Amino acid sequence: MEKIKMVTPLVEMDGDEMTRILWQWIKDILICPFVELKTEYYDLGLKNRDLTDDKVTVDSAIATKKYGVAVKCATITPNAQRVEEYSLKKMYKSPNGTIRAMLDGTVFRAPIIVDGITPYIPTWKKPIVIARHAYGDIYKAVDGKAGVGSATLCYTDTNGEKVEKKVFDFADGGVVMAMHNTDKSIESFARACFNYALDMKLPLWFSTKDTISKVYDGNFKAIFERVYNEEYKEKFESAGIEYMYTLIDDVVARIVRSEGGIVWACKNYDGDVMSDMVATAYGSLAMMTSVLVSPDGVYEYEAAHGTVTRHYYKYIKGEETSTNPVATIFAWSGALRKRGELDGSSELIDFANRLEKATIDTIESGEMTGDLLSMFKKEGVKAQKLSSKEFLEAIAKRI
Ligand code: NAP
Ligand code: MG
Repeated sequence: MEKIKMVTPLVEMDGDEMTRILWQWIKDILICPFVELKTEYYDLGLKNRDLTDDKVTVDSAIATKKYGVAVKCATITPNAQRVEEYSLKKMYKSPNGTIRAMLDGTVFRAPIIVDGITPYIPTWKKPIVIARHAYGDIYKAVDGKAGVGSATLCYTDTNGEKVEKKVFDFADGGVVMAMHNTDKSIESFARACFNYALDMKLPLWFSTKDTISKVYDGNFKAIFERVYNEEYKEKFESAGIEYMYTLIDDVVARIVRSEGGIVWACKNYDGDVMSDMVATAYGSLAMMTSVLVSPDGVYEYEAAHGTVTRHYYKYIKGEETSTNPVATIFAWSGALRKRGELDGSSELIDFANRLEKATIDTIESGEMTGDLLSMFKKEGVKAQKLSSKEFLEAIAKRI
């Protein structure tokens, strides 16, 4: 069989630990036998980030802007323990944070629905898509420790005009943080959400905590409202879908009672936390797709979960693990499909579709990784636990 040719390379961002192992296996077993894979490779593994003083992360984001489509493996965000474990020169920032800040844009996360896996919230019949604002807030915050003393927030405009606000007078030690966002980024977040909801014909819910954070979150609310009224109201009405703004705690209660089929737009931190909750409720973090869409139409596909450290330590001891590769497979298929769309390659689009169908068919016929085993119930099908490699081989047979 002749392999499918690619016109433009994908930007490939390799990562860490167990997902780095899966990454190579997915390429070897599921992609390279079928596609003449063209990538521009960036090693975002922690060792290489340290070696390059994190320049590799910035370079990979620049390449993504140039080519338009990237696929990213999960990476370690170093904490104090990782700094010691890897003897790092410093505690680098989250690569996802760096890339998202450079591309701006919005992360859309949707569950991968499989016949036989009922969500933990059984009334959820349709996907809940989380749209996560990917810029700013605590991910670009400046923070520090305070002793005894006072903290102020100072803003200076271009004329040198200053506005100062007291944050707190510390009588003992404590912590302070300042964060920011920009109107431009919030506006493109709003447009990305309205466009996505229209595309999918799904209602859009947006939530913040503007009763407490009157100026900061209030600005998010106002910008969404303005963009909606000026650009989207009529389109939503003729598509028969609604836009609703409500408080984050109210929306949490509504989501739990809903049957799904909603795009839920979240601020950066809310989206980080809520997407893990939603993914877990639909089955597993490994059954969730994630894509960052920038306002200028650049796409970065990734898995929603981390590097699965606990499994990696078993793997390096020589044990076989049953780590779920589905989200990472869908990151590749998503990126290949988008590349195919941009390059006008129906063969590549068709391959991406076949890869996803083969993956779902494999699970639906009872062959799956351990994390799905207890959740899977389908009449006439007996669930069987496979190792990651056996699972990938079972998928390859169905492509
Ligand atoms: P994690 O890697 O997502 O894993 C947490 C637990 O969830 C695992 O121990 C495992 O549970 C289960 N799990 C997650 N993905 C799975 C999969 N594909 N198959 C089977 N089970 C899976 O989160 P973490 O342990 O909190 O973080 C590990 C590292 O990942 C950290 O260094 C963190 O910085 C990084 N991280 C990266 C990203 C990213 O790059 N996008 C996102 C989050 C975290 P059991 O152990 O019970 O089997
Ligand atoms: Mg998270």
